[in-house]
Amino acid sequence: MRSDVLIIGAGPTGLVLALWLTKLGIKVRIVDKTAEPGTTSRALAVQARTLELYRQLNLTEAVVARGHKVPAINLWARGESAARLSFENKDQHERVLIDRLEALDVTVERRTELVSFAQEETRVIARLCGPDGQEVDCEANYIAGCDGARSIVRETIGTGFPGGTYRQIFYVADVEAAGPALNGELHIDLDEADFLGVFPLAGQGQARLIGTVRDERADRADTLTFNDVSDRAINHLKVGVKKVNWFSTYHVHHRVTQHFRKRRAFLLGDAAHIHSPAGGQGMNTGIGDAINLAWKLAAVLAGRAGDNLLDSYEAERIGFARRLVATTDRAFSFVTAEGRIADVVRTRVAPVLIPIAIAFAPVREFMFRTVSQITLNYRRGPLSHGSAGHVHGGDRLPWAPVDGVDNFERLTTMDWQVHVYGSASAELAAWCTAQNVPLHLFDWRSEYEVAGLARDALYLLRPDSYVALADGSGAPNALDRYFTEHGIRLAPPSPRS
Ligand SMILES: Cc1cc2nc3c(=O)[nH]c(=O)nc-3n(C[C@H](O)[C@H](O)[C@H](O)COP(=O)(O)OP(=O)(O)OC[C@H]3O[C@@H](n4cnc5c(N)ncnc54)[C@H](O)[C@@H]3O)c2cc1C
Repeated sequence: MRSDVLIIGAGPTGLVLALWLTKLGIKVRIVDKTAEPGTTSRALAVQARTLELYRQLNLTEAVVARGHKVPAINLWARGESAARLSFENKDQHERVLIDRLEALDVTVERRTELVSFAQEETRVIARLCGPDGQEVDCEANYIAGCDGARSIVRETIGTGFPGGTYRQIFYVADVEAAGPALNGELHIDLDEADFLGVFPLAGQGQARLIGTVRDERADRADTLTFNDVSDRAINHLKVGVKKVNWFSTYHVHHRVTQHFRKRRAFLLGDAAHIHSPAGGQGMNTGIGDAINLAWKLAAVLAGRAGDNLLDSYEAERIGFARRLVATTDRAFSFVTAEGRIADVVRTRVAPVLIPIAIAFAPVREFMFRTVSQITLNYRRGPLSHGSAGHVHGGDRLPWAPVDGVDNFERLTTMDWQVHVYGSASAELAAWCTAQNVPLHLFDWRSEYEVAGLARDALYLLRPDSYVALADGSGAPNALDRYFTEHGIRLAPPSPRS
């Protein structure tokens, strides 16, 4: 059986890729070497941009309902909660993705491991080892390496994993506990150069402790137990632990592979980039990779675009991954810096300055926009053209709800579409009808101008809802030029969306 795309790894990245491709009518096969989906070691924070993009999979509500909102972060210094930053966040959702995929008749093939693969001119041949220990070869048009930090797909295509490894060892402990830090909010201890955070989990008194260990204790990471590392949680954050459900230690790296694509093989998620968990970005970035690649693969497989569309995947995602690795590195270096000055900044200056800065709406907005990934854009990318108002090709469309009309409600399909805020010319309307591209019109309101949109301009949106083209003239010949230049042919709406 030949599949269109063979997905290696059913972590969040592989699952989202499988879901998107299946919705677009592509035949996928998804395998994972583990017997069960991960329940303990996975990411906590789902960022706002991911939830926005999930609207296209009709997943947002299910993920939010099964998650836990984190209403605030508390910074602790010298045994006291020194500052409280209010915000919202969500957790855990891998199960929701698996359920959704099964509803579309796609089952993750578990205990099935990629052993090796080879690329030929028109196909990939992969050797898989199944639950019975037998090795079999299978064929696919493309292979997607969503196989995490130790990716075999990456090793096979030889794109390297340059970067470094932090000196500290991290530990994670899922606990049942009591105390002021178990109030459903997130608590971070700034006292020492060892990082410690208490992340609430769904369920009364349930939390995940994430901390660092170093020096001589880090050298015996393999034998560390929760008792070796729990003093600080108890003394500084007053966490009374009743039961430890899970404890593990691990090394954290900051690395980005040199290429996200080699011929018919792609790297996504942790297989392509890893960094410290500070900021809760890793899984969200993997999901962003999957959504970026899925519609391109679908277009090429359907014969509606040339192979060069697939090159834009690396061009659009690698720069973001590199910036993210650099930023999380700076944040992590700050919380773990050693020495007297660093201690004073962390325990005395930061708890005073951060709330003052955060009280300032523009700073709060900047932080939200950065962490939530909504400022991520593909400006200057190969598929991005023009600007109108403050919106450039490659941007996320500004969210502009007006009188109960939410312009993002139109973004639930996975096809090209045109938005006009104001009025559209008859030529543009005729072009959209002829090409079967939905044209969404929004009566002009000053709120749209505030959001950065220009009156009567046309905004062409890609299947992943990023702005492809912004054109102030609103004339359809800009659309013709766009599709011709990129060799993309439009098609009827996808069968399963
Ligand atoms: C403690 C901790 C907290 C974190 N918190 C956050 C957070 O709050 N927010 C966030 O966004 N990120 C967070 N991260 C990062 C996040 O967990 C990862 O970025 C995310 O899991 C990556 O997803 P992935 O699907 O790319 O890879 P993975 O989740 O690693 O999945 C890879 C899958 O591939 C399978 N696999 C590997 N090799 C093979 C093979 N040869 N054949 C078949 N299957 C294979 C594995 O079994 C695995 O299921 C955190 C990480 C840690 C360790």
